[in-house]
Amino acid sequence: MSTRYVIRFDDITPGMAWSKFKPFEAVADALHLPFLIGVVPQCRDLSLSVEPERADFWPWVRERAGKGWTIAQHGYTHLYVTKESGLLGIGRKSELAGLPYEEQLAKLAAGKEILVREGVWHGVFMAPSHSFDANTMRALKALDFSAITDGYGFYAYDLHGLVALPQLLARPLGLGLGVETICLHANTMSEYAIQRMVEFIKTHHTAVIGFGEAIAIEAPSDMVERMLRALSQAALRAYRLVKG
Ligand SMILES: [Zn+2]
Repeated sequence: MSTRYVIRFDDITPGMAWSKFKPFEAVADALHLPFLIGVVPQCRDLSLSVEPERADFWPWVRERAGKGWTIAQHGYTHLYVTKESGLLGIGRKSELAGLPYEEQLAKLAAGKEILVREGVWHGVFMAPSHSFDANTMRALKALDFSAITDGYGFYAYDLHGLVALPQLLARPLGLGLGVETICLHANTMSEYAIQRMVEFIKTHHTAVIGFGEAIAIEAPSDMVERMLRALSQAALRAYRLVKG
């Protein structure tokens, strides 16, 4: 048994830090690795615009999808409007959690429409700030989403009728089992952190898999899956408590 890795990038927008993302794109192309990227359909969050906007943004997303990358819908506008931490209890801000069902459905539908129009809707959801609630899950289901990139544990599991592929940390743990989704925000990474992560990807490239492959990996048993999920949740909550 060995750990498999999904490399996930949040905050993919026309004005993202393309210069910082470039080394990751290069390593993916060189080694034919399928990353998971969270594309904001209609970004209104100015904090995510840090470099000149790319005019060929959607063609670029289509090109990445053509290379086997998975495109996740990262919210709709990425503007935080509530202070809810949602089902996972992470952070204190959300674009969706806490809003009435109809409002969430309308936002998610508008975002989906853009991705469908651009030919890059894969039915995968990535919640801004990892915050979503039962109404978000209900709306995602109504809109035919099949999976989310969030949750606890090391194996995919059912969460409100969708497949949840866990996402725990921004760096590898390498416990030797299951799947770890490494969550990266290129915009705010230092040159050193970028170099280190690119090095990690190079040395572990045979263990880097796509989102679709990752959700198909089964736990040794349901009990093991649930146990690992409970343990990782307790460990992360304790860690966040200590960190404040
Ligand atoms: Zn985000």
